[in-house]
Amino acid sequence: MDNLSEIINYLKGKKVRFADAREHLFRERQIMTEDTRVEGINEQNVSGTGIKVLYENGWGYASTSAKGMDSLKKAADKALSLARNADKTATGKVELAAEPKHVAKFATKTKEDLFGPGVGDAVAVLIEAGETILKGKDVIKAGSYLVFRNVKKKYANTEGSLIETDISTVLPQIDATARANGEVKSRHYWPAPMNAGYEYFRGLDFKTNAERIAAQAREHCFAKSCETGATTLILDPEHLSLTMHESVGHPTELDRVLGYEESCAGRSFATTDKLNNFKYGSELVNFIADNTLEGGLASCGYDDEGVECQKWHMIKDGILTGYGVNRELAHKLKLKRANGTTRATKYCDVPITRIPNLYLAPGKKPLSFEELIADTEDGIYIEGMGSFSIDQMRLNMQFGGDAFWEIKKGKITGMLKNVVYNAISYEFWRKCDAIADKRSFKRAGFITCGKGDPMQAAQMTHGASPARFREIMVRRAKH
Ligand SMILES: [Zn+2]
Repeated sequence: MDNLSEIINYLKGKKVRFADAREHLFRERQIMTEDTRVEGINEQNVSGTGIKVLYENGWGYASTSAKGMDSLKKAADKALSLARNADKTATGKVELAAEPKHVAKFATKTKEDLFGPGVGDAVAVLIEAGETILKGKDVIKAGSYLVFRNVKKKYANTEGSLIETDISTVLPQIDATARANGEVKSRHYWPAPMNAGYEYFRGLDFKTNAERIAAQAREHCFAKSCETGATTLILDPEHLSLTMHESVGHPTELDRVLGYEESCAGRSFATTDKLNNFKYGSELVNFIADNTLEGGLASCGYDDEGVECQKWHMIKDGILTGYGVNRELAHKLKLKRANGTTRATKYCDVPITRIPNLYLAPGKKPLSFEELIADTEDGIYIEGMGSFSIDQMRLNMQFGGDAFWEIKKGKITGMLKNVVYNAISYEFWRKCDAIADKRSFKRAGFITCGKGDPMQAAQMTHGASPARFREIMVRRAKH
């Protein structure tokens, strides 16, 4: 911390209103396999220091990958110069929400270092999964994608905070493709990406799931096409994770809501006049933002503004009740404190508001997944993430999926194909009339959520229990 503290003292001497410095070490290993061979191994080691300065009402940010005080001072001078220039054209007063001083450390709970076992260990597991998949009837391809990521940060600011974090992340995916009956279809097994050590990867059951997805990829080739029309949908947790990410997660980023994020991935319909009065979903719908969730991909202890991670309701009993809020914009909602959602992907990136760990709370009444299916006369059960699109305001949305099952008279009767549904985001959540209880709650998530210009890829966990939606427009994707 010595260098960071010294650079903060240096900037204090320049009469800045606020400054922070973040030493940021990003390490990642990606392994890709196809069939029974290694398709690629990528290793990244990116390290450096980012310095942010507020001078009067102007912000400046500069970074350096070089080590040593001379380089840090050059970056600090550049950030300060940018901030002074920005101040000359500032149109309003910057009001920075207060945050207690934190002198703290936070690390992902791990039993085994992600980079401890050699590359060969993980490759062997993925090749074995590929062999199992290829034994499936009519299977023509197996694939996998595995990411191990470790990010170490040291953070210091002019308010006296000194924070060290050490975050480890695992993302494992395998998939199967089959060709039969004139069709080519795939199916995947994407266990939840987690902040965890190697033990998480080691504990996954690839064999059983490889057999299952190989058989289901083939079954998908023989599935009948769905009918176009309004129907009942039951959506599994992995599928819902993408739906909630796009239709709740992004629309509730306050910087986006206030027009700071128009150049890339759009704006939001969830404007601040709707806070605490807008019916975003049925009264069963509760969305919890929780960056304190153990193993959550966005659980980092403290964010890149030195704000402690927190937990709050984004949507409570169907009503919009919160946003992801940084220190600069908190006062726009008359909030005294930001909620710890500001993160940067690498040292050279400016920290921006990111979707927190965000999940649909399980139903409060006892309801198993099997009871939910049994209670549904006709409809479609969708598993897994597929294609999607959503407009700039996060209103008109369309989703596919990975596997589709017909429900007839309370039973799953067989597979369907070519299913997509579309809806207006808040109307979709208003049509939620049942959520299974916590027994079937599962996590999913992303490590490639794109935002910002230049683009940054962030990570966050989502989750849900299977939930039911009535009168949703389903269309046959192929004619
Ligand atoms: Zn995203």
